[in-house]
Amino acid sequence: MVTPHLDLPLLAEGKVRRLYRLPDQPGRLLMVATDRISAYDHVLTPGVPGKGAILTNMSLWWFDQLADIVDNHLVSLDVPAEVAGRAMVVEELEMFPVECVVRGYLTGSGWAEYQRTGAVCGISLPDGLQDGSRLEEPIFTPAAKADQGEHDENIDYLHLVKLVGPEVAAQLHDLSLRIYQRAEEIARQRGIILADTKFEFGRRADGTIVLADEVLTPDSSRFWDAQTWQPGKGADSFDKQYVRDWLAQESGWDRTSDEEPPALPEEVVEATSRRYEEAWARLTGGHMPDDETAAD
Ligand code: ATP
Ligand code: MG
Repeated sequence: MVTPHLDLPLLAEGKVRRLYRLPDQPGRLLMVATDRISAYDHVLTPGVPGKGAILTNMSLWWFDQLADIVDNHLVSLDVPAEVAGRAMVVEELEMFPVECVVRGYLTGSGWAEYQRTGAVCGISLPDGLQDGSRLEEPIFTPAAKADQGEHDENIDYLHLVKLVGPEVAAQLHDLSLRIYQRAEEIARQRGIILADTKFEFGRRADGTIVLADEVLTPDSSRFWDAQTWQPGKGADSFDKQYVRDWLAQESGWDRTSDEEPPALPEEVVEATSRRYEEAWARLTGGHMPDDETAAD
């Protein structure tokens, strides 16, 4: 079964979420998280059962933890029954065209850039770091949002200023680091290293900056097991890395080709699902309510 399409005007269909207009609630949107999973800018098949509900509930949980730092876009959970548990009503915002990435540890595209240049997004880092090294201080490494199917591009602070202006750039920088610091501490107390994460912010008509999209989920973050982490050696992770690794190392798919990635075998889907559930269980200490899984 797939996440049902609703009889509402569809504003945007992302790789994972759908945004609908709510004709009787101007200025509000219905954000629905499907069970789709994306990696390397491709939507994979099949979906991961329960994932949309985990992303939605985890974002809600974090919004609460962060409420004294930043306003968020949540309005209500008064959503159509077909998508209950995987949807929320949010404020429609003017989104900034940037992903506000914060890294406390060096890996992924940050590690790749450091190996080439010794810096990430124009921030010089000391010599001798390894894949997975903890950074002395978390760094703000924004990326310009690319068009559909294209890859987001790491940018330096000056580029960010060109995109959003100096005042907004400073606010995005400060908010992102403050949110990361709070979240990193909460995760650490629960045995999880928040290696990196990305936020999206938007602006209300009155200029207030608001935390939007999903927040601190296993799709938008790297969650590592604090017990097994070792720089250079990696760690057990409760996020999408497992799927990226399967695609890049085991599936035989050539990322640089034009071909679509292969379907995920059942055991890869299940192992991914277990990781997302583990992230939820460790962070919130709770069990997910039973849900009618859609897995599209
Ligand atoms: P993107 O690179 O745009 O995030 P995506 O394929 O990852 O593409 P999804 O994350 O699946 O897209 O869809 C969510 C979309 O909704 C994003 O484009 C995000 O910027 C947008 N969005 C999130 N919250 C709001 C909001 N409050 N108001 C308007 N747009 C929002
Ligand atoms: Mg997105």
